[in-house]
Amino acid sequence: MASALKILWNIHINKENLWIKWIHGTYLKHNDVWHVQARKGDSWMWRQILKVRDKAQGLYRGTDNLKQLIFSCSKNSNIRLSALSSVLSPTTNLVPWHSIVWEKLNYPKHSFVSWLAVQDRLLTQDKLINRGIVNNNNCSLCTDTENRNHLFFECCFSRDVWIMVMEWLQFKWKSCNWDQILSWYSVRFRGNGFKQKIKKIALTSTVYSIWCERNARIFKQKRRTAAQLFRDIKINIMSIILNDHFPDEIREWICSL
Ligand SMILES: [Zn+2]
Repeated sequence: MASALKILWNIHINKENLWIKWIHGTYLKHNDVWHVQARKGDSWMWRQILKVRDKAQGLYRGTDNLKQLIFSCSKNSNIRLSALSSVLSPTTNLVPWHSIVWEKLNYPKHSFVSWLAVQDRLLTQDKLINRGIVNNNNCSLCTDTENRNHLFFECCFSRDVWIMVMEWLQFKWKSCNWDQILSWYSVRFRGNGFKQKIKKIALTSTVYSIWCERNARIFKQKRRTAAQLFRDIKINIMSIILNDHFPDEIREWICSL
C-alpha cells in the first residue's frame, strides 16, 4: 500500500518522469488521480493502483486526510517509503518479553519452548491432572508438585542448574523465581549488547534444556545430573557464540569464564 500511495503521490504532483507523463497523457487526460475511475481496457497495474487508492481513501476517511497523511511522510517533495509504511502499519503492542523469547541468536526450538513457558502453555503435570490425563502431579526432577513456576526454577534440581548458569555468566542479580526473572529480564535486557544477548540465550537455552530433561525422565527413563545438564547448556551457548559474529573480546570473555 505504501508503494502504491507513493506512485499515486508522484502522479498527483506530476513528478518529472516519463512514465508519469505517459499516465497523465493516457489515463488521466486532465482528470484528477484521486477521482479518476478505472475503465475497461485499462492495464492491470493501473487498476491495482486505483484499487489501493480506494481502499486507502476508505481507511483514512477521504482524499484530503489521505493526502495529508502522505504529505506528512515527504521530505523535499520525495516520499519516504519507510515512514509511510510505518504510518500505515497498525500499531503493535509488543509484549515485554518479546526480545528475550525471540532473540535472533536463539535456536528456534529454544524460542518456541520458552514462548510456551512464558505463557504457561507447556503441558506440565498440573495441567495434565486438570484434564484427567494423569492422576498425580509429581515433579519428575524432585518429589514436589509440578507446575510452570516450580519447574522453572523453584525445583531443587532446576534451581541448581540455573544457579550454575548465572554464576558462570557472572550475573550480578540472581533469582530463581520465574516472575522475578522474567520481569527483570524484560527491563534490563531490552538492548542489543553482546553480553545481554548471551544472557538472553542462557535463559531460553536453560528453559529448553530443563523441559527436555523433564521429558527424558518421564518418557525415556533417562536422567542427567544438574552438573551434566549445566555442561550441555554451556556447550549450547558456547556453540551459538563461537558460530556467530561476536567480537573477539566477547569470545575471549566467555572462554575465560
Ligand atoms: Zn521439582
